[in-house]
Amino acid sequence: MAIWSPRNGLDNRRPDLAHCRAVVYPKETYGWLHGYQCPRKAIVFRCVEGHEGELGFCRQHDPEAVRARNKARQDRVEAEWARARAKDERERQTRDAQAAAKAALESIAAGHNDPRTLAVEVLAMFPA
Ligand SMILES: [Zn+2]
Repeated sequence: MAIWSPRNGLDNRRPDLAHCRAVVYPKETYGWLHGYQCPRKAIVFRCVEGHEGELGFCRQHDPEAVRARNKARQDRVEAEWARARAKDERERQTRDAQAAAKAALESIAAGHNDPRTLAVEVLAMFPA
């Protein structure tokens, strides 16, 4: 999240200290070129690295709230990835077990002399 300061604006507007210091962008083509100071009232005050004293923020742009939201989003994405990886792994184990089961049946049909042990081995390959 960018902090509004004179160098952010092409017009060198000074920050309005009564309002949130976050830079916001209009939702339009090339809006990112036209950032402006958040118009909401500053209600929380925080020290921000690289800036002197405390800066005011609205509830949405409170750096601690922003950090918490980013962390929650990252945790959700990581959990989703972990679920997807676990699903892929189970699918791989199932495919391997199915291939082994087919080979075992072929082996039994051809006269394998210990089909029970073979069946136990192949069944152990299926994911729980
Ligand atoms: Zn704000």
